[in-house]
Amino acid sequence: MEFNDFSTHDSHKKPSMSVLRDLIPYMRTVKGILVATMIYLLIATLTSTIVPLLLKTAIDDYIVPKDFQGLLMIGLYSLLLVLGTYVFQYLGTYYSFVAAQKIVLDLRRDIFHKLLTLSNRYLGKTPLGVIITRTTNDTEKLSELMSSGAVQLINDAILLIVTLFFLFSTNVTLSLYSLCLTPLVIWSVVFFSKLLRKSYDLARNKLTQLNINLQENLSGISIIKIFNRQAKNRTYFDSISEAYGNSTYTALKQHTYFNQTINICSFLSRITVVVAGSYMVIKGTSTIGTLTAFLFWVNYFYQPLRDMGERFNILQDAASSMGKIGNILHCDEVIPDKALPSPKAPVFEGKIEFKDVVFRYSEEKKILKHVSFTIEPSQRIALVGPTGAGKSTIMNILLRLFDIESGSVLIDGIDIQSIPLQELRSNMSIVLQDVFIFKGTVMENITLGQDIPEEKIIEASRYLNAHPFISALSKGYHTQLSSEGSNLSHGQKQLISFIRALVHNPRILLLDEATSSVDTYTEKLIQEGINKLMQGRTSIAIAHRLSTITSCDQIFVIDQGKIIEKGNHDELLAKKGFYYDLYTTQFQDSL
Ligand code: ATP
Ligand code: MG
Repeated sequence: MEFNDFSTHDSHKKPSMSVLRDLIPYMRTVKGILVATMIYLLIATLTSTIVPLLLKTAIDDYIVPKDFQGLLMIGLYSLLLVLGTYVFQYLGTYYSFVAAQKIVLDLRRDIFHKLLTLSNRYLGKTPLGVIITRTTNDTEKLSELMSSGAVQLINDAILLIVTLFFLFSTNVTLSLYSLCLTPLVIWSVVFFSKLLRKSYDLARNKLTQLNINLQENLSGISIIKIFNRQAKNRTYFDSISEAYGNSTYTALKQHTYFNQTINICSFLSRITVVVAGSYMVIKGTSTIGTLTAFLFWVNYFYQPLRDMGERFNILQDAASSMGKIGNILHCDEVIPDKALPSPKAPVFEGKIEFKDVVFRYSEEKKILKHVSFTIEPSQRIALVGPTGAGKSTIMNILLRLFDIESGSVLIDGIDIQSIPLQELRSNMSIVLQDVFIFKGTVMENITLGQDIPEEKIIEASRYLNAHPFISALSKGYHTQLSSEGSNLSHGQKQLISFIRALVHNPRILLLDEATSSVDTYTEKLIQEGINKLMQGRTSIAIAHRLSTITSCDQIFVIDQGKIIEKGNHDELLAKKGFYYDLYTTQFQDSL
């Protein structure tokens, strides 16, 4: 597994302008809340830094001269200020969380909406774990930025400036003493920020790997069990999990070292204030009130510095997360689409033409090499050919899951690239080899959320002979199917997908016939079902059953991305070519 495009290698970059540009629209929607948060926190900062000033006045002007009345007044003011600080701090914090949640909600929605438009080419090369990490973890990083990063960083800066102002305006000499450790503090902020950045990066990278591994293991759980890979996979998972744990541990350890460094500096500074301040009080160049206020202010001075390392981390984290989210949001690997001109998509005649189509999934290899054919409305076509020939690819192209490199694909004489996707796809149904069952009832799995009356579904299901088995389920059509339909047999899933296709009544039916064999009874149901499904519509079947092949009007034989033979069963047999060989090796037994 390569992580090149998905790792955090780009996170060492400085937060670039493009990241900010991506974030601004989201912040704009919560502009009012952000401004309110800033104001609340600013008020809280101011009120909290004024309290030591009141304390100084209380000691110097009232306690020392023993003025009890004045002391009571100052006490009352202090109480109000402290209360004010808590109320505004609460409001500021509360609204920063509100803003954060709103931004994350919007981002997650946009990522998901974008994912739905991205071409299968992109989704095919991006591990699911990466996408899940982007939609959950990375969006959380931006929430953190809003709740305890950006707004607080500005607030910290204000606290620092206000505190410095109070310190120097009260006593310059004592201020210089109390700040003598500042160079060491700044050095440790810079040093630990860099260190922590690396450690958090590593931890996040490991988390992405963990998510990828977890997702792959869960999707392939049956294979893992069947091939007795449990022990190997367990060891590998444990190693990633341990690496993630270790990197988190390292980061936390460094964080503690950093905190302790700042704490020690703060403690030493306060001792300096006590020693130097007491000396100055004795000398008469300062007062006990000033000394007391300084002890508070020094603490206020260190608090934002202690937080600063973390805030920068959150900032850079968020920038790197936003960068990666931006890669998804700006990804241009989308299938270009036109808007549906009217609410109801028009119904196709069903003529399909491929003209000199060249297609490749990736740079390396041409998968379709100048393929041309015409299928008249309501004609039935069978595609046959060896594995990897390009049969499913033809269907992917018709559905515009992928766009072609050159040539053209026309439906009713119109290039499919100029047909709105919704119109194109609402006229087609595909029945795949692997039937995908969503978590939901049988009914929901058939309608796929469209408004289709129940009678119509039962009628279709009777027509395809699936009614007996569905009614026999515990709650009939309302039986809950587990996701991926593990409580249904393969044949049953096939029949459900036939009903699904039939009730959507497509003009064009694409059928990728399953190769797996089912019991003879179900096989008969499926064969009949296929015949009934194909009736009256343009159908292309990737056929493995002889019965499907012979019931088709034309057979296209595909090999290595080219159509090498065309004709009906008898014509192709008479030709004694590729189809003849295929027929004699594959289907003799079933005759
Ligand atoms: P089968 O009978 O086994 O289903 P097929 O004829 O349907 O085979 P295709 O699925 O069309 O074969 O694949 C044709 C070629 O394209 C194969 O070589 C395959 O490796 C490649 N291919 C298929 N899907 C992708 C994809 N999503 N990305 C890259 N290459 C692909
Ligand atoms: Mg295939």
